[in-house]
Amino acid sequence: MADCIFCKIAQKEIPSQLVYEDEQVVAFKDLEPQAPVHVLIIPKKHVESIMALKAEDKDLVSHILIEVIPQLAKELQVDEKGFRVVANTGDEGGQSVKHLHFHLLGGRSMQWPPG
Ligand code: AMP
Repeated sequence: MADCIFCKIAQKEIPSQLVYEDEQVVAFKDLEPQAPVHVLIIPKKHVESIMALKAEDKDLVSHILIEVIPQLAKELQVDEKGFRVVANTGDEGGQSVKHLHFHLLGGRSMQWPPG
């Protein structure tokens, strides 16, 4: 989508530190990491948020959750100690970029409740 920064990252129109790519998904390091490991996993196609997902996206979401995130957690060596996956959704959910993304955070102990 025009003017979507994450679409531009997915299309390599603006640079990022890519850590994973396949036909449907890219993952890259967050520009302002909140933990030693902080990557964002996004679909290449523009979906605004969890609330915009449709039934046709089932395979895409399954792929991200069942395959991509566990594989990345292993590669980034947070699988054994643990990590957090966050999808901020909407304004009160703290979503600043309106393109669906999953934060994968790890490498330190996480606190609860989140801010
Ligand atoms: P959220 O606030 O959940 O929408 O998360 C958006 C995230 O995108 C934030 O953690 C930002 O640091 C990150 N971010 C924004 N622009 C970029 C960029 N160009 N490259 C990498 N991460 C970015």
